[in-house]
Amino acid sequence: MATFVPATDRRVRSPHLPFGDRRETPYYGMDILSVLQFRREDLEYIFGVAKEMRSMVERVGTFDLLKGKILANLFYEPSTRTSSSFLAAMERMGGSVIPINEVTYSSVAKGESLPDTIRTLQAYADVIVLRHPEVGSAQLAAQYASKPIINAGDGVGEHPTQALLDLFTIEEELGRVDGLTVTMLGDLKYGRTVHSLARLLASFEVRINYVSPEILPMPEEVVGELEHRGIPQARAASLEAVLPETDVLYVTRVQKERFQDLEQYEQVKGAYVITPETLRRAKDEMIVMHPFPRVGEISTEVDADPRAAYFRQMEYGLYVRMALLAMVLGKA
Ligand code: ASP
Repeated sequence: MATFVPATDRRVRSPHLPFGDRRETPYYGMDILSVLQFRREDLEYIFGVAKEMRSMVERVGTFDLLKGKILANLFYEPSTRTSSSFLAAMERMGGSVIPINEVTYSSVAKGESLPDTIRTLQAYADVIVLRHPEVGSAQLAAQYASKPIINAGDGVGEHPTQALLDLFTIEEELGRVDGLTVTMLGDLKYGRTVHSLARLLASFEVRINYVSPEILPMPEEVVGELEHRGIPQARAASLEAVLPETDVLYVTRVQKERFQDLEQYEQVKGAYVITPETLRRAKDEMIVMHPFPRVGEISTEVDADPRAAYFRQMEYGLYVRMALLAMVLGKA
């Protein structure tokens, strides 16, 4: 598919429309590159489909909606949840997957360029999920692909499908998004999930607090975008200062792999640890989220607290990714 497709102008550009595909479905053939392409009505639609997916999985486990469809799962960076949930999503719907998780064993290790790899995979697959260390890589891939590209994380840029599942988690757990106070904690500079989530939340009436080590603030670019959209944001000096008013505490890990200077990483890596003691000052009705992996930011003793939503968050991710695959393949 060509690069960025605005939500208002999605058109099918593939001349080949496989039998049974419904060209008129609004998301058919769409790339998912950034959360900025989604408006509130798109989100409602996605979450509606995700709920249908959940009830299908609960009732029948697997079904044939994507029978005969093939996903290329192309990961140039490590992944556990994103790659396996896309794989599970495809298989739950009867499709199949070309898993390329270890690019050292593919031609990439021989120096193949991203455009060549994408052009190759689109000859075999109907949709490509891409994780790559460079910002803008998914946009680049989309320029070379006539099949939908789904951005599964482009370096420190965005992680749109994670943000969609995060938002779905908030809505399902707390029953609403408008009116909530969301506190983002940890590495806000390099954490792509918080970049995407903050942008997505800007479509709602929320307040956002940022709590981070001084050297890892939310990028000015994101803060500026949200400011422009009228979202109240505050940089808080400490978690204690904002925890009592927080409805969603979104914790992130310090992204070690993004640091040039590992000594700097060592200085900030243990900056925040959520324990049962921390949560004593939190509301009874709030949730703690984390995109995972956690590397010490949330003690395992918190897991038993009903407010710990991070394992449920992973399951919501399956349904959202099922919905997105079905939508871009013209089946929802
Ligand atoms: N799994 C998430 C990501 O790929 C979060 C993280 O790695 O910390 O961005």
